[in-house]
Amino acid sequence: AHLDRIAEVDGRVNAFLHVDAESTLAQARQVDERLAGGENPGPLAGVPIAHKDVFTTADMPTTAGSKILEGWRPPYDATVTGRLRAAGLVILGKTNLDEFAMGSSTENSAYGPTHNPWDLSRIPGGSSGGSSAAVSAYEAPLSTGTDTGGSIRQPAAVTGIVGMKPTYGGSSRYGLIAFASSLDTPGPFARTVLDAALLHEAFSGHDPLDSTSIDAPVPPVVEAARQADVAGMRIGVVKEFGGEGYQPGVLARFHEAVDLLESLGAKVVEVSCPAFSYALPAYYLIAPSECSSNLARFDAMRYGLRVGDDGTRSAEEVMALTRAAGFGPEVKRRIMLGTYALSSGYYDAYYGQAQKVRTLIMRDFEAAFQQVDALVSPTTPTTAFPIGERADDPMAMYLADLCTIPTNLAGNAAISVPCGLADEDGLPVGLQVMAPVLADDRCYRVGAAVE
Ligand code: GLN
Repeated sequence: AHLDRIAEVDGRVNAFLHVDAESTLAQARQVDERLAGGENPGPLAGVPIAHKDVFTTADMPTTAGSKILEGWRPPYDATVTGRLRAAGLVILGKTNLDEFAMGSSTENSAYGPTHNPWDLSRIPGGSSGGSSAAVSAYEAPLSTGTDTGGSIRQPAAVTGIVGMKPTYGGSSRYGLIAFASSLDTPGPFARTVLDAALLHEAFSGHDPLDSTSIDAPVPPVVEAARQADVAGMRIGVVKEFGGEGYQPGVLARFHEAVDLLESLGAKVVEVSCPAFSYALPAYYLIAPSECSSNLARFDAMRYGLRVGDDGTRSAEEVMALTRAAGFGPEVKRRIMLGTYALSSGYYDAYYGQAQKVRTLIMRDFEAAFQQVDALVSPTTPTTAFPIGERADDPMAMYLADLCTIPTNLAGNAAISVPCGLADEDGLPVGLQVMAPVLADDRCYRVGAAVE
């Protein structure tokens, strides 16, 4: 049924970069055989899933949305895709994304933009926009994404679905094509909070192949999603997120969600996190710095594309020609910005300073979580914007990440759950729930209560 749905609507949505119906049906038959043989792979056995095309898959191409990886077939599965295969989930295909996960709209993909199923002239969010659109358009019941600066929560919010950024280190980065290694976090997309929790549980947990993986039990996310009870919880509204620059319809739905939490027995207070205002500029130094280092591996020798290798040119010339042809404008902008911020003489003023801001943001979270169990805010300042509207204005594009980025810099957990439609455009609005490191279950508990 999902393959039929993809065939019916994906020509308009463009959520998928790779679909192979035969492989999907073969995987499904294998799961049937495992079940018939008495094996119990887990509660999601036989459920179809779409993977963001930034996770390696041994039997399918992986492009990261870039021309530089066109035609590359990874020799191994990422931990996330491998664990889900072992749990019996059936892969429908690989989904579109902003090139190397850099963007907020999926317009930076080398393979064309993905369209928001609610209004095809609008963006589905980014960078995991193919994964959010696939679930929102009923092409897949579940999908995976990665959240480096909001790339799961923001697309979930603008397509009216659930998206969760787990605690950093709670889900493995092994086999995830790196953007900014100190921030990259795999997470689930689903249409309900419980579905997201089941998927979260299926791929999470310690992985010795990822040096920053946390060796601790997975928080009880499924139990929390079933509990869906906020009575007696203390919930903080982040004072800095709201007001000027926020769409009135977004704020109206957000305040209704807060009222609902209060009526369900939560104690709601306002909490100030003054350093959050500096999160965006700090992120746009740290993320490009790490990207400039990570993307050095695309050297025309190891993977995919190679340009100008006709026997007359040096390795350096081939490398320069390949990178010039293979990377898109946003990726080049970030590599240049990051290289500059890390260069000798500027390191302390930019990268060093940004890392200090990161510490201040962690302290704001620590102080807030002394007073409350969870923090809430709108996930994004506006609903989905029209395709093309911010494409030539990187600064306007970066504002989409205003509310999501502090959580990435601090490494804690946050979810986006749908909280209604904005009056002015009828488009979905997301409520963000943030919880301390390894308290991912609280996100599900609060999220399920407002769902
Ligand atoms: N929009 C942010 C960026 O462009 C976040 C991306 C992400 O989370 N992968 O960097």
